[in-house]
Amino acid sequence: MPYTADPGLADFVRELPKTETHLHIEGACPYELLRKLDPVKHARPPPFWDDSYRYRDGLHSFMPLYIEYCQDFFTSAERYHQASEIMLRNCAAQGCRYVETSFHLPTVLFMRDGGADVVRAIKSGAPRGLEVRVFAGMSHNDYAGAGRDLIEDSLKWPELDGLDLHGLEDIPLEPWTADVWARARLAGKFTKAHAGEFMGPDFVERILDEVKPQRIQHGVRSAESAATTARLINDGVALDVCPLSNVKLCVPGVTSLAAHPFRRLFDAGVTVTVNSDDPFFLGNTLSEEYYALHSVHGFTPAELGKVAANGFKVALLPEHVRKAHLADLAAYVTQAVLGK
Ligand SMILES: [Zn+2]
Repeated sequence: MPYTADPGLADFVRELPKTETHLHIEGACPYELLRKLDPVKHARPPPFWDDSYRYRDGLHSFMPLYIEYCQDFFTSAERYHQASEIMLRNCAAQGCRYVETSFHLPTVLFMRDGGADVVRAIKSGAPRGLEVRVFAGMSHNDYAGAGRDLIEDSLKWPELDGLDLHGLEDIPLEPWTADVWARARLAGKFTKAHAGEFMGPDFVERILDEVKPQRIQHGVRSAESAATTARLINDGVALDVCPLSNVKLCVPGVTSLAAHPFRRLFDAGVTVTVNSDDPFFLGNTLSEEYYALHSVHGFTPAELGKVAANGFKVALLPEHVRKAHLADLAAYVTQAVLGK
């Protein structure tokens, strides 16, 4: 991604205490692990790291590449652990103190380990000082056959922090989703759903009405409707946004980063966080997301601090821990902005 920063801003962003709350572990598969597995197949960096690469048909063109590059890797809890160790080390090196990551729950159907083993394997990859929450991701049509039992079972795993509805948004939303999401909340899980990435604000409204997630992943197309934007503000539903992902996946209306609605949503008062989504398939880093907000949308260091603060505001942390992170962040930004 062609987003760089002058040394001053790069230093500011690196040390800025921040979060990552929209990160698919399979889409963050470390290249070094793929190369180790198959040095011939992965001899050259993948074409989609190129700045000009576009997934012209959105997730429909993304999924075949996932199958080609990463599906063979995620075959055991140990593999998830290996990926997690590198992914979370990278997060920590970029100043992250809190990460929410999801794994595609149905991959468990093809391995000997159980889903709770996978959750533990991911969590145990975290370096000291980094808090990690793990979400089970699933697609609109995954509640079928053995998938149904697996989803039901996942609600009983104490290690699992929440559910995330993901995958192709245009696959019909099935009635099980609202029921499972409601029971997940009763079981103490936090619930998210992808909406408003490829589908418009009507779909965001429908997800909010029926599935009632506590946070929306992407949600950027909400900006097309003043009513949906107002609802997100009034209901206190935050969006975990990934601007560089939206550009590369050709989200409708996002023809360039300049056309991305992040600034509009932020200025309107929606709680927006910034995240990297699928860094292996996007060739991006979390730091570059911050650089891009600065260089293209004119976010000042103080505003970048507010974006980072949103991440801690939505984080699944005890109140005293949240307050401590926010206080650290405020002190850091004040010192950096005042230059002393
Ligand atoms: Zn996502």
